Amino acid sequence: MTATDLTSASAATAEAIALEDEHAAHNYHPLPVVVASGEGAWVTDVEGRRYLDCLAAYSAVNFGHGNPRLVEAAREQLGRITLTSRAFHNDRLGPFVTELAALCGKDMVLPMNTGAEAVESGVKVARAWGYRVKGVAADAANIVVMAGNFHGRTTTIISFSDDPDARDDFGPYTPGFRTVPYGDAAAVASAIDENTVAVLVEPIQGEAGVVVPPADFLPALRALCTEHRVLLIADEIQSGLGRVGATFACDLVGVVPDLYLLGKALGGGIVPVSAVVGDRDVLGVLHPGEHGSTFGGNPLAASVGLEVVRMLASGEPQERARVLGEHLQSRLRSLVGHGVVEVRGAGLWAGIDIDPALATGREACEALMRRGVLAKDTHGSTIRLAPPIVVEQADLDWAVDRLAAVLEEFAVSDR
Ligand SMILES: *Cc1c(COP(=O)(O)O)cnc(C)c1O
Repeated sequence: MTATDLTSASAATAEAIALEDEHAAHNYHPLPVVVASGEGAWVTDVEGRRYLDCLAAYSAVNFGHGNPRLVEAAREQLGRITLTSRAFHNDRLGPFVTELAALCGKDMVLPMNTGAEAVESGVKVARAWGYRVKGVAADAANIVVMAGNFHGRTTTIISFSDDPDARDDFGPYTPGFRTVPYGDAAAVASAIDENTVAVLVEPIQGEAGVVVPPADFLPALRALCTEHRVLLIADEIQSGLGRVGATFACDLVGVVPDLYLLGKALGGGIVPVSAVVGDRDVLGVLHPGEHGSTFGGNPLAASVGLEVVRMLASGEPQERARVLGEHLQSRLRSLVGHGVVEVRGAGLWAGIDIDPALATGREACEALMRRGVLAKDTHGSTIRLAPPIVVEQADLDWAVDRLAAVLEEFAVSDR
């Protein structure tokens, strides 16, 4: 038995956790709750207890568990065909890439599966563009990245992470990346040289604790990239597709990147679907055989992705996240000074720094779990909230009340 406190867990929970701990690699440290089913913003564990899901699989479940429209699209496609490979055309990919490109205001889509693959694909496209279009000397390309970034877990991506847990003992590292402080446009300007092919940025840093940069940061990056003929690549894998109360976090500051990296919610919480979206002068650099994926653009993924895009095209999820988000953020801000040090966020996405003297983020999340709220800690004393956009306002109020109660409980036991 490792890594899991079972003192309060009953038999079915203990059994399920023991099985997983024994045979699944310990690359995660889950809360001791065993989810068995879900609907909308709520999940039910193996004991029949219900929880409000305030993580939504890191925004992969933006449209709620078992979203009827998305499940129907998947079910209908399951009965037709699910995988053809890109060796042949399939009748779902065309509509998906056409409507996704339109949603992004771009020409072309490179379909992949996971977020990390979208990032890897963006890096490769930027390098090929640098050599073939910008005229950078062979193997000399560099990409400017941000301190505190999270872009995934492959060997190249962790090469430009500054999180020791993600990096240590996984070298040697891929060269060609330059790290600058997040939010510091002057540092980006100094890092750019004639061999720079891209600036890769999360418009809001999720894993870092929902860190929102100064409002002039992304516009300054846009101007720098245009001036120096560098691609601006926005990793909107977690921030995009409705979460922040707009289609993209870039929209909040009126910035249009050269490439969008999308993932998570694009698969509707059903299948992994990711994409690089950009214009023909950039994505058009790829030729047959240079990049690919067996599952990328498969008919099941394309059907679900298409339905996600159609839901977003109505603007309704974005508007709902915006309105509910304002309510959530203002309720959370009222906890500042009552066990909360700082609240950051946009739309239905919040990073809450709790007073480290009261509890760690992990302890707070365990206490929230016992009260029926599932959330995730990050970096010591930060709790991150990202409930499905289908959540009801009353549920949000209920969750904030639970958080207030948990903090009050820690404060009392501290006295
Ligand atoms: C989750 C995430 C990724 C990686 O996505 P995976 O599907 O887990 O590979 C990349 N970038 C950002 C900003 C993310 O939040």
